Amino acid sequence: MDNNDLKNILKEVIMPGENINIIDKGIINNIEILNNKKIIIFISLENPALHIRNKIYSNITDIIHTKISNEIEINFNFQIKKLSSYNNIKNIIAIASGKGGVGKSTIATNISAYLSDKGFKTGILDADIYGPSIPIMFNIENDYPTITNKNGINNIKPIINYGVKIFSFNFILQNKPAVWRGPMASKILHQLIKNIYWEYLDFLIIDLPPGTSDIHLSIIKEFLITGVIIVSTPQKISISDVKKTIAMFNIDNIKVPILGLIENMSFFLANQKKHYLFGKNGIKKLSNNINIPFLGEIPILQIISESSDNGYPIILNNNINYFYKKYFILIMNNILKQISN
Ligand code: ADP
Repeated sequence: MDNNDLKNILKEVIMPGENINIIDKGIINNIEILNNKKIIIFISLENPALHIRNKIYSNITDIIHTKISNEIEINFNFQIKKLSSYNNIKNIIAIASGKGGVGKSTIATNISAYLSDKGFKTGILDADIYGPSIPIMFNIENDYPTITNKNGINNIKPIINYGVKIFSFNFILQNKPAVWRGPMASKILHQLIKNIYWEYLDFLIIDLPPGTSDIHLSIIKEFLITGVIIVSTPQKISISDVKKTIAMFNIDNIKVPILGLIENMSFFLANQKKHYLFGKNGIKKLSNNINIPFLGEIPILQIISESSDNGYPIILNNNINYFYKKYFILIMNNILKQISN
């Protein structure tokens, strides 16, 4: 039995719901045969859905056991196939939260501004269609991306500020309320995302909507996400929503690695004393309990909300004292450590 014999046998396995066999579809990357007793099959699929994978695994197992031998042990090595249009994006980091208003966009803005400042080619996709605030935070509220047509395909050129390539769904929504639902949202997202011309990026930061929604599922389907960061305030009410968000990213056919949790609005400083308005260390304790890295805390600071409103990320502003920026810098170092892990 060699690889060619096996490939011929595997031509009898049809892709679930399609009219093509798995060899012609090109989902088998490699086959290793060990002592004619064990076979390792390396598979890559664009659709990571578990039920499709399981169906393929069981059909492959059945045909090998029937046509060769019942004794053969079969192992599968699965990889999600990168969509070719995103091959030029090295790391895709999604920023999520259980609730709205916890500082997710503020943190996404500062992360991307920091990475760009450090020389990384960086983009940000504002996918928070229910409250898109990235254009304000980047001071590009009145800008509109240019669209060119190349060989019949529309290319949307992101707007660049502070060296960051920015695309927000608010460019399309134009401050109208987002009433996108289910399949319609997925279709529009897919079309739009496909046409954004990022060119090469070291990092694409995606600002997700709060909570769990169809938009999350669409984004997860569109991009091979390197990892997700979850932002929350420390009070009990927020924590239960964080747990739901973590559970979503842990679902078997979603499975996005969680890089860590960030606690925002951890405390308020007055007279050189920390006041824990929303309780002490809620997210830090949660991280410990569920064994997910804690990436750091950020206090409530007037200068943070002013920077957001002024469209000038605090991390870039040389007129702002290091004391206020150090929380973000510490978090950035932890994020980069997690990614290199
Ligand atoms: P989300 O994206 O989670 O909805 P935002 O990032 O839009 O939240 O933040 C909501 C508001 O809170 C914004 O006005 C922002 O400037 C402010 N904000 C966020 N984090 C802080 C903080 N640590 N201190 C003070 N204001 C903050």
